[in-house]
Amino acid sequence: MILQLKNRQGIKTILNFFKKIINPASNEAEPDATPVVKIYARSEHSISRSQISENALKVLYRLQKSGFQAYLVGGCVRDLLLGREPKDFDVVTDADPEQIRKVFRNCRIIGRRFRLAHVHFGREIIEVATFRGAGEAQSDKQVLNKEGRLLRDNVYGTIEEDVWRRDFTVNALYYNIKDFSVVDYTGGMDDHKTGTLRLIGDPETRFREDPVRMLRAVRFAVKLGFNLDPDCEKAIHDLAELLYGIPAARLYDEALKLFLSGYALQTFEMLRHYGLFQILFPDTESSLSVEEDGFPKLFLIKALENSDNRIAEGKTVTAYFLLAAFLWEPVAIRAKEKVAKGMAESMAYQEAATEVISRQSSSTSLPRHITMSMREVWTLQPKFNMRVGSRPSRLLAHPRFRAAYDFLLLRAETGGADPELAAWWGRYQDADETEQRKMTRPPRGAQNGRVRRKRTYRKKAATQDKGI
Ligand code: ATP
Ligand code: MG
Repeated sequence: MILQLKNRQGIKTILNFFKKIINPASNEAEPDATPVVKIYARSEHSISRSQISENALKVLYRLQKSGFQAYLVGGCVRDLLLGREPKDFDVVTDADPEQIRKVFRNCRIIGRRFRLAHVHFGREIIEVATFRGAGEAQSDKQVLNKEGRLLRDNVYGTIEEDVWRRDFTVNALYYNIKDFSVVDYTGGMDDHKTGTLRLIGDPETRFREDPVRMLRAVRFAVKLGFNLDPDCEKAIHDLAELLYGIPAARLYDEALKLFLSGYALQTFEMLRHYGLFQILFPDTESSLSVEEDGFPKLFLIKALENSDNRIAEGKTVTAYFLLAAFLWEPVAIRAKEKVAKGMAESMAYQEAATEVISRQSSSTSLPRHITMSMREVWTLQPKFNMRVGSRPSRLLAHPRFRAAYDFLLLRAETGGADPELAAWWGRYQDADETEQRKMTRPPRGAQNGRVRRKRTYRKKAATQDKGI
């Protein structure tokens, strides 16, 4: 392990150096101090090139050949060190976006908040970002709002500056393609070993800059099985409400990452623990406190567990199904109130769905194709009660039948629907046509009654037609 000290700022540098030696645990972000860097040589860490995507390696080597620095950074380094397969590979370099574009033909520049390059290889995209600079607050390239939140941020810099802009120490490790070493400015390797999720710098300042980091803290703690550093925990308790200032579209994206990652149930519990869940899904949070016939609300828990199991089995989960589950209790409560006031059931569910979607959209935006599917899943629920005549076969042919039926099963498992009803629909799907017709035939008395009523009506209509 090599300890480097670059003597750039004279006495200040030396003071900082000693401060770190006296208190190595101190992680205060000091963007203007020359950081102490630890370099872990190839023999001192477990990342091998065979774990890295070929396309990411191509990008790294090509940048290096063109005379630029090139590192893997962020989640991929963190995951590789844990022996996990990274979701994607992020590259960081000293080349600016225009220079990156010149190196790669298959490249597009994206982003407004921070411009970066996407290098395309068929379906795989390697994200290439330029080192971020410390920047001058109030300059035209970096914009903060009055709560200290970063709105625009296009200041390029060096690796020493870039590192302090990252969120957690374990997300701030750089894998250098030049010598295959891991470069660590923030004690990320030690935190990795102890399983600690620690913000770089002062937690309050970092959460104020970007309150979404609170959601990221929960996501990573759950995904990695790491503990939140106590200062970070305390800051979340104190500052959770800052999330109200984040645009609903960004919270929607974060909510999907939180709940579609395979750890939805644990994430849900941890978000509630920190008071973050109620900001994302306020109506769900209040519906959870309404007990029904002394039963705790198990439906959502079961839905989240189910979704995690599906992901573990390599099956797909859809965002609309999970969102429909989150908001089902609020919809059902409202719909029941409307039915109690005399509204027809199907209308009650339609109206309740509209109200709940509209309220939720001010917390997390909901794309239209998602709300359409959620609505279908909800409004098909009361239709499962109709088991006579042609209605079951029409319901079975509905494009959203499968999802609605899975939803019914979850309700039946958790006391929200009759298990016999769910079992009937199971049998109905498996039955052949003759059997299905038998199953949907009205009971004898009811059939007579119905036919008789129809005949009476026809007779009446005929009499009216004749003007009698
Ligand atoms: P995942 O496995 O979910 O992709 P990740 O750590 O790679 O995790 P990304 O959102 O892909 O997360 O971000 C890549 C890196 O960019 C992070 O590891 C972190 O260093 C930095 N980063 C991302 N978002 C923020 C943020 N809001 N504040 C500070 N740094 C961030
Ligand atoms: Mg990533």
